[in-house]
Formats: sequence, C-alpha cells, structure tokens
Amino acid sequence: EAVRVVVRCRPFSRREEIAGCENILEIDDKLGQITIRNPKAPPDEPMKVFTFDSVYGWNSKQSDIYDDAVRPLVDSVLQGFNGTIFAYGQTGTGKTYTMQGVSNDPERRGVIPNSFQHIFTQISRTQNQKYLVRSSYLEIYQEEIRDLLCKDNNRKLELKENPDTGVYVKDLSSVVTKNATEIEHVMNIGNQSRSVGFTNMNERSSRSHAIFVITVECSEIGPDGEDHIRVGKLNMVDLAGSERQSKTGAKGKRLKEAAKINLSLSALGNVISALVDGKSTHVPYRDSKLTRLLQDSLGGNAKTVMIATVGPSHKNFDESLATMRYASRAKNIKNKPRINEDPKDALLREFQEEIARLKAQLEERGMLAKERRRRRNSKRLSKGLAGMEEDILRERDADVWKTVEEEPDVNMKEGGDITKVLTCQGSGEKLKHLNENRRSVEDMQWDQEAVEKIIEKYKAMESKLLVGGKTIIDHTNEQQKMLEQKRQEIAEQIRQEREIQQQMMFQDEETLEMKETFSSLQQEIELKTKKLKRLFAKLQVLKGEMRDIIDEHITTRQELEQTQNELTRELKYRYLLIENFIPPAEKNKIINRLHFDSEEDQWRLRPVIPSETPTQVKRRPLSAVGYKRPISQYAQMAVATATGAPSRYQAENIMLLELDMSPPTMFTLNLDGTHLERAFTPRLMHDALVNIPLRERTASPRVRKSKS
Ligand code: ADP
Ligand code: MG
Repeated sequence: EAVRVVVRCRPFSRREEIAGCENILEIDDKLGQITIRNPKAPPDEPMKVFTFDSVYGWNSKQSDIYDDAVRPLVDSVLQGFNGTIFAYGQTGTGKTYTMQGVSNDPERRGVIPNSFQHIFTQISRTQNQKYLVRSSYLEIYQEEIRDLLCKDNNRKLELKENPDTGVYVKDLSSVVTKNATEIEHVMNIGNQSRSVGFTNMNERSSRSHAIFVITVECSEIGPDGEDHIRVGKLNMVDLAGSERQSKTGAKGKRLKEAAKINLSLSALGNVISALVDGKSTHVPYRDSKLTRLLQDSLGGNAKTVMIATVGPSHKNFDESLATMRYASRAKNIKNKPRINEDPKDALLREFQEEIARLKAQLEERGMLAKERRRRRNSKRLSKGLAGMEEDILRERDADVWKTVEEEPDVNMKEGGDITKVLTCQGSGEKLKHLNENRRSVEDMQWDQEAVEKIIEKYKAMESKLLVGGKTIIDHTNEQQKMLEQKRQEIAEQIRQEREIQQQMMFQDEETLEMKETFSSLQQEIELKTKKLKRLFAKLQVLKGEMRDIIDEHITTRQELEQTQNELTRELKYRYLLIENFIPPAEKNKIINRLHFDSEEDQWRLRPVIPSETPTQVKRRPLSAVGYKRPISQYAQMAVATATGAPSRYQAENIMLLELDMSPPTMFTLNLDGTHLERAFTPRLMHDALVNIPLRERTASPRVRKSKS
C-alpha cells in the first residue's frame, strides 16, 4: 500500500493581501493536480504540474480533509492497523491549523480533535467489544525528546529498542481516556506545556516536531471462543517548518544547534529518498530520533498519510516548489500494513487480568465475610453456651459452698481448692471471649476498608474499559448516522472518481497513438508534428525539472560543504588546544576512558573509578609483623635468637645518669641600694661571679650500664 499524499493550500493572509502578493498556484481538486508558476520565469516557460492523491484549495474545510484523507486511516486504526499522519510544509502554511485547528470551533477543528470524536463515536457503535484508549504527547526539539504530559517536562527521554515491540520512548507517560472530552483535555495540557516557558513560542514550534499518539486496544471473542486483542496506534505528527535554516556564519554552540535543528527533517528526506530509490539497501532510520520513532510509518507496518501544506504567494515559490517535490517523492513509498493481533505489550490484557484478579479477590473476600459471619454466629452460640456453663458453674459453686458450709472440717481443703479452680476458669473464659470479640470486630473493620478499597480500584479500572454500545451513550440519532454514512460514501466516491480520472489521463496519451489512422500523408505529417510539439514541450518540462533538481543539489551540497568547513575549523581549533595545553599522558587517560554509546549515538566518558567497588580507606602499613612500634635491628636479632618470650629492648644503648642529690646552696638577698649598685657594676659583678660559691663541685658522674 502506497503512502497517501495530499496537498493543502491555505488562503492569503491579511498581510499578504495588503502587500498585494500574486497567486502562483492553480488547484484542480477534481483531478488532484496542482500547478505552480514561477513568478520570475519568462511567460512562455511551461508551468510545473504535480499530481497527488488529492489537493485542497484555499477554501477547503477542515471536515473535507478529515473525511477524505484521515477518516479511512482512523477506521483502519480501530481495526488494529498502525496509522500515521504527517503535516509537512513551510512555517506559516497551516500545519498546526490542519492538525489542531481551533479546538472550540466545530467548523475549524483540526485532524487531532476530529479524530477523538470519530474514535469514540465508532467505539460506541460497536457490539461485544471492549476497548482501551490511551494517549501520549511528545515533542522532539534539537534531537531531544520531551514528554508534554508529565509535570517535569524538561527531562530528556531516551529511545529504546525492544526486539518484540520495536522502538519506543522510555518512561513516556500515557493517559487512559474514557471519552472525547477527556482526551481533549489531555491534548490541551500538552499544548500548554509546549508553549510554557519559551519566550519565542513561534520559533520553537516551527523548529520542533510534535507527536500525538493514540493507542486503541480492542478485545473481542473470536470464532475460536478465545479472547483476541488488536492494537492500533495512531501517530499524528506536526513536523517542524521545512524551510532551510540558515547555517552560515554560525559558530560553536550555535553551529551545532543549527545543524541539529533540521537534522530530523533532513533525515526524514533521506529515508524517503532511500525508500523510493529502490536500489539503496540501507535506509538511514537511525540518523535521527524522528525517523527512528516513526520507522514503521515509512516503508513498514503502518498506513501513512502525508499532508503537505503550501502558501499561495509568489514570495513562497521556492519553498512551495520544494514542498511539492518532497511530497511527490513520498508518494512512491510502499508500506506493508497488517493488523496487530495479540501483541505482547497490550495494556488491555493487563487490565483485564488485573480486573479478574480484583474480582477474584472480592469474591474471596465475600466468601470470607460469609465465613466470618458464620463463625460469628457460632461464637455467639458458644458464648451462650459459655453463659450457660457459667450458670452451671455458679450453681456448682453454690453447691460446693454449700457442701463446705455443711461439712466444714472434712471438705475444707479440697472444697476450697475446687472453688478456686472453678472461679478462675469462669473469669478466664469470659476474658478470652471478650478479647476474641474485640479482635473479630477490628478484623471486620479492617476487612471492610480493604474490600472497599478493592471495590474502588475494581470500579475505576473497569470504568476505563469501554464496552461498545454500552459505556458511551451515542446521542446521534439514526438520521444523523445515515447522513454521516452517506457523507463517507460520497467522499469515497469522489476519491475513486479522481483516481479513475488520473488513470485515464495517463492512458489517454497511449491510446491516442493507437487510434490514429491517417487518411493522407499531409494529415499524418500534421498529426505527427503536433505530437512532436507536445513531446518536445514535455521534454522541455523534464529538462527544466532536471536543471532545477541539479541546482537544488548544488545548493544543498554547497551548504553541506560550508557546514563541513565550519566543523573542520572547529575541530582543528580543538586539536590545537589539546596538543598545546593537555599533557599527553592525561590525553591518553581520557582517550582510554572514552567509549561510543551506539544507543544514544554519542561518545561518553567512563567514570574514573568503577562505581561498583566501594572506595577503601587505606590503612597505614605496620612497621614489623606482630609489633606495635618499630624496633631496632639489634632487638630484632635478639628476638630471632631468643628462645623465651620475646623481650622488648627499649633502651639497650642508653646511659643512665644518677641524679645529683647534693642540697642547693642558699644565700640571703640583701635589698639595700648598695647591693644593687654592686650588682650592676661590671667589675664587682665579675668579682661576685668568682667569689660567690655557686655550688660545690661534685665528683664526675658515674656511668652505669642499663640493668635490663
Ligand atoms: P504552521 O503551523 O505551518 O507554521 P499555522 O498553522 O500556524 O502554520 O498557520 C499560520 C496562520 O495561517 C494561522 O494564523 C492560521 O490560522 C492560518 N491558516 C493556515 N491555514 C489556514 C486555512 N486553511 N484556512 C484559514 N486559515 C489558515
Ligand atoms: Mg505550527
């Protein structure tokens, strides 16, 4: 099945009208043809004609596009096919208008809100089927994926690949919705978070891709009596503006940004080229996030519609032409859609299982409650019995007492013991009963809460499952239904008519040749000349086309070369820095730590210390094995030769000096002036030093060897 490509032209904007822009587009919606005139070309130059599956003029309504291009696709999604709708075109040509439109105006609602209505109405009309509808909303900006439905929407999400389910976005939130109002609310939340926090919303929105995803899961009892689940996934993509971002003069970070901005879009172009080419074996899906995520939509398991949008003004000639070329290339992509039956990741299955589990639990609880009630009854019975017993006991007590009273000396000991035992028994039993009663009441309360919780959860989960013809009440009456059906039929009819006409147009030329019979030579010459002229004109058109394409390639190539030059310059600068400022050893260390993450398509640095092994605190090494303090070599030798307990030589070579025990010499201090005078006279001081006997000199100290 080929990708369906339709083109929509928007009306002149107020500004364009004031500026007096010329219309360069001519639209034939019967034939699905669009003619574009080059405003700068000489008048005799043939105009360029493109044929698409359908074209919509400036006065086309949103519902026209929905009924013609989108409705069949959404119907297929409900049957379990994957579907994708792209809006492609220059900024300001109506991509967002076509996809979103004005939500609160039924006339101007775009593809996304219309699909909500469609999906839920269709579900309400089915019989014996259960549905689960959930939606996600994400944005790709500069090759980073953001979840538009989660609070922390500045977090970058990663793309992961699963051999069973293909490429998916990890941790992307998805919301289960029960009706069109709910899903619309989800869309509005996403749209708000798309615009919040960015001062230049228009610039951002024109450079980012927004993808709204609706997953419809349907379970139905098959002819084999088993429950079968079909899952259809609908991607609705508002692509970034297709105009070329100027890359010239950008440097460093800006250059990288500029290179990233249109990466997804040019990768999309490359994927289309590779698919259409037929010769290339490699399709570069992995080149960008967008193409990886929508891999199935291009040449894979999906039905795809591309809505190309163009503006009518002569100022947009280049861009409009480029858009139409792009779109007409995409026409040749062949997809292989199939119904996704019983996939492993169906949420519906999980839901059903969970619901069944809860139900079983509830039933069990119900049984338990019954059981408890029964037990409670029997307990009451036993309590009654116990009461009776007590009475009996009391009677017995009385009897015993009586006997005691009657025969005090004989039965005193025995009877006293018996009474004690009996009374104890009676009160103990009472207490036990009381406790049991309390416990069972608590149990019941707790149970009640748990059961309520389970019931709540059960109801919540079951309410999310949509049962066709039951959960949603379809308010439209039969007449309206008929009307809708008729409209669909008409749209289908028109589509077929257009296809037939297109085929006829191509066949005409061939049949014309066959039918020609010539009555005279003159006539033959005339006819042949006419034909020659026609073919010559065609040749000229093709030649012009070729020239244009070559020109386009040249400009693309020049741009790429320019980018390459800039990048080479950047690289050389980095090399210079590395060579001159980073020691080779450090450089090698870093190089050894580098590795390429193919999942993320990026170089990464490994951490310096493997993070798994905990960092150890290194202990100070011991001086010698078995000893706390360092010991000398001599001591070590002694230890080695000694037989007994290791002796510790602390001071083997140290002399011991005996303390000098002679008493100190005392003299009185004379505090009169003469004494001080004497003290400060140098000569007298000398005398004093000589004369004053400081201390009696002791004999030379004796040296003693250490005893130890
Ligand atoms: P894009 O998303 O491609 O950048 P928009 O959807 O924002 O462009 O459209 C730019 C302007 O043109 C908007 O104001 C929109 O209302 C208007 N517009 C686009 N297409 C149509 C149309 N078919 N009919 C009426 N107005 C349109
Ligand atoms: Mg837009």
